[in-house]
Amino acid sequence: MKTLEKTIRYRASAIDQLPETDRRLAERAQAACDGAWAPYSGFRVGAAALLDNGAVVAGNNQESEVFPAGLCAERVVIFSVLSQYSGRKILKMAIAAWHDGAFTDTPVTSCGICVQSLVDLEKRQGEPIAILFTGNRQTIAVERAADLLPFTFSLA
Ligand SMILES: [Zn+2]
Repeated sequence: MKTLEKTIRYRASAIDQLPETDRRLAERAQAACDGAWAPYSGFRVGAAALLDNGAVVAGNNQESEVFPAGLCAERVVIFSVLSQYSGRKILKMAIAAWHDGAFTDTPVTSCGICVQSLVDLEKRQGEPIAILFTGNRQTIAVERAADLLPFTFSLA
């Protein structure tokens, strides 16, 4: 038996230290929190995706009284892009969350289903999707969603 190790590399920084393009994408994710419908969790989540044509597609979580019929912000954006921007690739996605009357100070990370969905899309589009989790004080960035799920499910 062997003991092996997988490591990931990520960047942590204050939101105001981000490169301009990342800061703008983070602001789009924050702005998208406004449209969330989250009366049950109280977490208004916004996501913004930068596409390979320069467009930004934003979305937010939509909860349902019929749990778990709602959808997280990340998958709202993924499916919006896939259905409305056929052939385009997502290069980067920023995620932000609003809770208790303010944006969270620390980043809120994606749930496992969203991470799996992002990894699936990376495989499908043949390009990594950089992920930027943003908080008001701190951000976390990885170069590819697969870094968040080292033992991702795969049929092949
Ligand atoms: Zn999710």
